[in-house]
Amino acid sequence: MEDIIGRLLELERTDRELIRARKRLAEIPAELTGKERALAEASAALERLREECARLQADLDATDLEIRGGEEILARYKKQLGMCKSTREMTAIRNQMKAQQVWIDQYVEKGMALMQELEKKKAEAARLENEIEAARVAIEEAKALASAESSELQRKEADLSESRERIAAGIPADDLAVYESALRSRGEAIARVCGGGTCSACYMRLPPQIHNLVLLKKGLVTCPSCGRILTP
Ligand SMILES: [Zn+2]
Repeated sequence: MEDIIGRLLELERTDRELIRARKRLAEIPAELTGKERALAEASAALERLREECARLQADLDATDLEIRGGEEILARYKKQLGMCKSTREMTAIRNQMKAQQVWIDQYVEKGMALMQELEKKKAEAARLENEIEAARVAIEEAKALASAESSELQRKEADLSESRERIAAGIPADDLAVYESALRSRGEAIARVCGGGTCSACYMRLPPQIHNLVLLKKGLVTCPSCGRILTP
C-alpha cells in the first residue's frame, strides 16, 4: 500500500505541474488578445481625434474667410467715408462700420477659440500616437516572449503527460479512479492526517476507526468530509 501511496503522491505532483502548465498555456493567447484589443481601441480613438482636428480646421478656415470678407466690407466703407458729402451720410456709414467691426470681432473671437481647441486636440493626438507606437513595440516583444514561453510549456506538458502515464500505469484502476475523482472535485487529491486525527485539507476531526485504517495502510482511505485520500 505504501508503494501505491508513494505513486499517488508522485502522480499528484505531476498532475499539479501539468495543471499549472496547461493553465499558463491558456493564459498566454488571452493576454496577447487583451493587449491587441487595447491597441485597437487606442488606434480608433486616434482616428476620431484626427477627424475632430480636420473638422476644427475646416471651421477655422471658414471663420478666416468670414473675417477676410468682413474686413473687405470695412475697407469699402472707409473708402465711402472719404467720399461723403454730408454729415448725415457720414454718421450712417460710421454706424455701419461700427456694426461691421462688432461682426468681425465676433468671428475673430470664434477663430481664437477654434485655434485653441485645435491645438489642444493636436497635442492630444500626438501624445496618443506616441503611446500607440510604444504599445506596438511592446506587443511585438510580448509576442516573441509568448511564443518562446508557449514552446517551452508545450515541451514541458508533453514530458509531464508522458510521466503521468508511466506513473498511472503502476496504480490499480480502482485506486486511480478514487484519486481522479478527488482531484476533479477538489483540485488536490491527497491529504495528510495531522494534529492527532484531523484531515490536513478540510480540518475535519476524523472518526477513530478511519484514523486507524489510515495507520494500518491496508487500502486507500478517504476523508469522509472532503473525499481526499488520507496518508499518515
Ligand atoms: Zn478532508
